[in-house]
Formats: sequence, C-alpha cells, structure tokens
Amino acid sequence: MNAMNASKRILVTGGAGFLGSHLCEKLLADGHDLLCVDNFFTGAKNNIIHLLDDPHFELLRHDITFSLYVEVDEIYNLACPASPIHYQHDPVQTTKTSVHGAINMLGLAKRTGAKILQASTSEVYGDPEVHPQPETYRGNVNPIGPRACYDEGKRCAETLFFDYRRQHGIDIRVARIFNTYGPRMRPDDGRVISNFIVRALNGEPLTLYGDGSQTRSFCYVDDLVDGLVRLMEAPDGVTGPVNLGNPRELSVRQLAETVLRLTGSRSSLEEAPLPEDDPIQRCPDTRLAKEKLDWRPAIELEDGLEMTIAYFKKLLFSIAPKPAPPPRE
Ligand code: NAD
Ligand code: UDP
Repeated sequence: MNAMNASKRILVTGGAGFLGSHLCEKLLADGHDLLCVDNFFTGAKNNIIHLLDDPHFELLRHDITFSLYVEVDEIYNLACPASPIHYQHDPVQTTKTSVHGAINMLGLAKRTGAKILQASTSEVYGDPEVHPQPETYRGNVNPIGPRACYDEGKRCAETLFFDYRRQHGIDIRVARIFNTYGPRMRPDDGRVISNFIVRALNGEPLTLYGDGSQTRSFCYVDDLVDGLVRLMEAPDGVTGPVNLGNPRELSVRQLAETVLRLTGSRSSLEEAPLPEDDPIQRCPDTRLAKEKLDWRPAIELEDGLEMTIAYFKKLLFSIAPKPAPPPRE
C-alpha cells in the first residue's frame, strides 16, 4: 500500500461480478478493508472464492434495492447486470437496481459521510449521433425500447448522484464505462468477446449480429479498474462524469477475425439479425480522463484477448481433479 494512502473501509456492490471481483482484488492489495455485497444474480462466489480467507475481506449476500446499514468510508456502486441478455431478463428489476439501488447507496453515503462512485455506462449515449462520444454529449437513447431498462436506469442513477451532491453535499464520482472484457466474464454472458472466444474455442460458428459493421472499442479489465480507483482518489471536485474506455475502435467483424486468428480456430462467421436499438458506433473520447486522472489504457487488444482466451481455455477444457473416494467402512 502507498504510505500516503491510509487503510479505508470500502464497500463494493456487485463485488462478486466480473468487474467487481477484480476491483475487490485491487483494493485488498492496496491494503484496504473490503465489504463485498452481491445478490449473485449474475455474479458468482467462484469469482471471489480466493479472497474469502483474507481477514480484510467480508462477503454479504444482499440485494441493493433494499436498505443497507453498514459503516464505510468509500462506496463503489457496481451492482447491476451489464450484459444485454441478463439485464433484459427482468427489466423491471434492472431499473430498480439502478434507481432504488442508487437511492439506497446514496442514503448510506449521506449517513456515513462516505465518498461514492457510480459505475455508469457508455449506454447513457444510446445510439450516438456524435462520434467519438465526449462527456458533454447528451445522448440518443430510446426511452421505451428493450435496452431502456438499463440505459434509462443508469441515466436516472446519474441524476440522483448529482442531486444528492447539490442537495446534500455528498462527495460523488461518476465513471462512464465503455465495453470492458477480461477473465471472469461468464461463458454464457452473451457479450461479444465472451461469445466469440467460447465459440471459437469450441469450433462453433461466430455469430455477427447485423453484418458486423457496427463498432465498439474494448478496454481490458485491469486498465478499467485502475481508472475507477484513480477517479475515486482524484482531488475533491473531480466528480465526473468521466469516460473510461479504450479509444481503439474496431468493427464487430474485425473483432471476430482477430479472435479467430488468436485462437487459431477454423470456425466460420455467420450473420444473424441485429438486435433492436443496438448502437451502430461507439468509441470514447478519453481526453477528460487523461487530463483529470492522468489515465489512459495501457493494454493492447491483442494482449488482453490472449489473457482472456487463456482464461476461457482453462475454464472450458481443464479437467477437474476427481474427488477422493469415500473411506471404506
Ligand atoms: P456483472 O453482471 O458481472 O456484475 C454485476 C454484479 O452485480 C453481479 O455480481 C450481480 O450479481 C450483482 N447484482 C446485480 N443486481 C444486484 C442487486 N440488485 N443487488 C446486489 N447485487 C446485484 O457485470 P460487470 O460487467 O461486472 O459490470 C459491473 C458494473 O459496471 C455494472 O454496474 C455495469 O452496468 C457497469 N458497466 C460494465 C461494463 C462492461 O463492459 N463490463 C460497461 C459499462 C458499465
Ligand atoms: N454481437 C455480435 N455477436 C455476438 C454478441 C454480440 O455480433 O455473439 C454484437 C452486438 O450486436 C453489439 C456488439 O457485438 O453490436 C457488442 O455487444 P455486447 O453485447 O458485447 O455489448 P453492447 O455494447 O451491445 O452492450
């Protein structure tokens, strides 16, 4: 731990999820006391099982749409399913998680005086008409489409964060996270990188929704977690919203070809209908993150994909050791 950086009691909601588990690891390594709260909707104990024996780590099964009374110094609010298939599974609960969850966590911050960071998203820009997207762009979101439960829920959470700041003087931080990938994504997560890697490794066709010309930019999880911590530790007044993402933009088809090359897979590419409201292009303008946080992603897409492919290979193909037979009577 940095000697200047005193140990803090930190709450991570959604801490058993993909990003949350990496964030918990990083904050523990920095010498803090962690309270991980999760309802395991998309997260898993397996993601944090290696942390359970650490006396500075505590796990609480809890749904943040209900009140939580704990004493903490900082809150990272990550709880919310992030993959379209998961957040559309129970859209009302998705909105509740963003809105009621934000109210509960902001209420906790108000009572304890904790600093609080919201994991917002590039989805607040919807299907953007400005490219790349700076934080000043107000977005193009369909409020009644299938993605709205997530997009509008996250937009309302941002509103709540800024109202709690204006009305109650809460110290807030808002990160707008762009597509992030890495180990511990679920193989059935439905997001493009996990889908493509799992299918390539299994020799199944990779499915391009639409013709694969829509673009995204992909940030490796370690870079993203570094950005979140820098935002939380930034000087007073740096509230965000700040875009955190990798500005290297590529089409979904180019991503598929890269995954095939790196896995050495001979899988074919297939096309399927583009889901409703699927954004056509997305790329962060990261100048504000550079200026305010001195942050820029360091991990190249190919390197990040190699690490993610290695993770999925192990997950899909390693043969678990057989349990010892029961002792004979
Ligand atoms: P994830 O689905 O792996 O993690 C979300 C975690 O929140 C899971 O562990 C889930 O069980 C938990 N959760 C969901 N609803 C909850 C509730 N009501 N109470 C308590 N726990 C709850 O997703 P992720 O990719 O790790 O995303 C984490 C956060 O980052 C989310 O808020 C997401 O919106 C945001 N984000 C992620 C990305 C990305 O590309 N990964 C991009 C933009 C924003
Ligand atoms: N996509 C795809 N094939 C898949 C999964 C996703 O072509 O198997 C596309 C999807 O339509 C979108 C992009 O990849 O245009 C990124 O999708 P993802 O669900 O990962 O994240 P999004 O940015 O849409 O939230």
